Parts: sequence; C-alpha cells; structure tokens
Amino acid sequence: MSSVTVIGGGLIGLASALRLADAGHTVTLMDPSPASGATHHAGGMLAPVAEVVYRQEDLFPLMVRSAELYPGLLEVVAKHTDLPTGYRREGTMVVAADRADSAHLSELADYQATHGMAVERLPVRQARALEPALSPQLAGAVLIPGDHQVNPRMFATALLDALHNLGVTVVRERATALPDDEQVVLANGLGAGELYPGLHLRPVYGDILRLGVPDHLQPLLTRVVRGFVEDRPVYLIPRTDNTLAIGATSREDNRPIPRASAVHDLLRDAIRLVPGIEECDFLEATTGARPGTPDDLPYLGRVDEQLIISTGYFRHGILLTALAADATLALVEGRDPGIDLRACHPHRHHKPVSKQGVSS
Ligand SMILES: Cc1cc2nc3c(=O)[nH]c(=O)nc-3n(C[C@H](O)[C@H](O)[C@H](O)COP(=O)(O)OP(=O)(O)OC[C@H]3O[C@@H](n4cnc5c(N)ncnc54)[C@H](O)[C@@H]3O)c2cc1C
Repeated sequence: MSSVTVIGGGLIGLASALRLADAGHTVTLMDPSPASGATHHAGGMLAPVAEVVYRQEDLFPLMVRSAELYPGLLEVVAKHTDLPTGYRREGTMVVAADRADSAHLSELADYQATHGMAVERLPVRQARALEPALSPQLAGAVLIPGDHQVNPRMFATALLDALHNLGVTVVRERATALPDDEQVVLANGLGAGELYPGLHLRPVYGDILRLGVPDHLQPLLTRVVRGFVEDRPVYLIPRTDNTLAIGATSREDNRPIPRASAVHDLLRDAIRLVPGIEECDFLEATTGARPGTPDDLPYLGRVDEQLIISTGYFRHGILLTALAADATLALVEGRDPGIDLRACHPHRHHKPVSKQGVSS
C-alpha cells in the first residue's frame, strides 16, 4: 500500500482520494477550501450524449466510459457515508424553441445516432405528456434516456464525509510545492499550472442561476431539459432539494461575476421553454471557471515515478470524475487503467524542464 497526497479537493481530487482510501492506501488531501472551485458552480449533468460536440471524437470514449463507471463510484461512496449525492437517472430531454432550432436539434440527433448513442425523437405532444411544464409552443423534442445527473455540492459534501469516515487527513492549506517523498496526485483544477509548469490551463467562465421551486409548482420538471432558443443553448436541471439550476454560458472574458445581461438572457430563454419558471424563487446567480485545455481533453496521466496529474476537465469534470478516480487508482497501483489515455498525456502541449522551475 502507498502513502498518497492528493492536492486539490474539487470533485476530481475528492473522488480520487475516496477510491484510493477505499482500496487501503494512506491518503492525505490538501485544499484550503474544498469544493470551492468549478465544482461549487457546476450543473452536474452526466451527459455523454447530450454534451457531444462535433469533431471531439477523442473525448467520447472517456465520457462514455465515465458514465459506465459512475454507478460503481456511487456504490463506493455509499459504503462510507449515508449522505446523498443528488444522483438522478430520469434522463434528459432536449427541446427546440423554433423551427431553425428544431433543424439544429435534428442534425445533432442524427450525429448522435450515427455514433451509436441512444436518442429518441418525440412529438412535442408526447414530450409535454412527460414534462407538462414545457411550453406548448416548442418546435421539437428528443429524449436521451442514458444522460443522468448529480448535485455537485451535495456530492462533494458526501465525499468529504466519506473521507472523514475512512480516516483520510484533510489538510486545509494551499500546497505551494509538490511533496517529493511519496505518491502525489495533482488535482487542483486551474491551480495545477502553478505547481507544474507546462500545463496549458485557462479559465472558461460559466454563469449559473439557482431557483427555488415553490410547493404549488412541484415537480416543475422531473428530468434535465436542455434547449436551443434562437440558437442559444440553455439547460434546466431539477434537483432533489427542490431547486432548479439554469445555465449554459461559456465565456473567456476574465469577468468572475455574472453580468446582469447574462442573468436576463438565461431567465428569458428558460422561461420560453418552461413558462412556470416565472413563478420560482430567485436564490442565486454565480460564475465558475472551468479548467480548459487547448484541445478540450484533460491532462491525465503519470509524469514520473511520484507524480500523477489529473486536471483540465473543462466542461465535463463532473461526468469525468468517475473515470479520473478509477484511472488514478490504477496509475497509483501500477495497473493498466483499462482505457487508452495517450491523448490525455500531461506533456502533450509542453514538456517542462523541471517541476517547479520555469519551463523552456
Ligand atoms: C457553470 C459551470 C457548469 C458546469 N456544469 C457541468 C456539468 O453539468 N457537467 C460536468 O460534467 N461538468 C460541468 N462543469 C465543469 C466542472 O465543474 C469542472 O470540470 C470540474 O468541477 C473540475 O473539477 P476539479 O476538481 O478538477 O476542479 P475544481 O472544482 O476547480 O477544484 C479545484 C480545487 O483545487 C483547490 N486548489 C487550487 N489550488 C490549490 C493548491 N495550490 N493547493 C491545494 N488546493 C488547491 C481549490 O480550492 C479547489 O477546491 C461546469 C462548470 C461550470 C463553471
């Protein structure tokens, strides 16, 4: 068994620490404020199909594999805590606001079906039978039964409790250098580049709203609804705590606070799909920074005998948590991670000359 320090307590670091501790390794987790990064703001959709992006074929197998691994990860969580994760398996519906959006939706559904993904076109009437709160004015709908969700904040709290119950030491401090006497997993999101130069990470901001659904509207929605409204994407995520998250923005303008216009746009588009949202309580609008990489693939792999890097999960870090934790355990134990990670090698954009020095 190894002694392992995991740097970073977002979902990636927390779940990796859990799998390691569950397997009997001695784990220390370092984070001045666990789950305060992208994890705190994330939607929590586990959506390998709905999130498919054209020409990102290297990402599909990772997303699909991680979705397969999720139930197993949640079983390990449930072994060590009774706290909920907000996991819901009702699936995802994708809807179109107008005829042009409907054409876009059809193209995407064709692409998904060509890649062997389970998608089912629905007449709007049938979509509304499943989700009566949807607007009668919609132009098209597709059901994706295999795309699920967790509540990232709940899940992080459950993971921290599980780590506590497993005896993992959580050091609430910022790492300023890499420990050099044991196995280290560098999983501190956007902060990883400070400790390991050569990683090309950049913040990609996203705004997200949280609404409370009043009792008389319950359940407003039972599954995730994603939509296109005049070509703008929007998603609505109903959670087990009677809240609804609304998001979809993606921007690289270094503004860490939501613009008033972004809040307006998200609400307007969400209300167009689900008019009852007008009646909800407005609880919160926040902005998170996704750890982006130049090719949208994570940095995941071993770079020397002591160091494993696991960051750059960009738009899919909640989904890819199960894969990241599983691969990290395999890498620590010197086993084959069971999936080809060559495209994710942390040195693919720049090989650093030294861990803490300036790279050439
Ligand atoms: C608005 C929004 C919506 C999103 N929706 C989804 C979604 O629906 N589905 C999905 O799959 N993904 C989604 N994502 C992406 C997802 O949130 C990220 O990919 C994921 O949270 C990355 O997790 P992480 O643990 O790598 O990083 P983070 O959650 O950012 O955690 C990094 C941690 O490292 C710590 N840290 C930093 N520096 C140090 C240091 N020097 N020492 C110790 N600790 C340090 C920080 O305190 C932080 O807790 C969304 C992101 C945003 C912003």
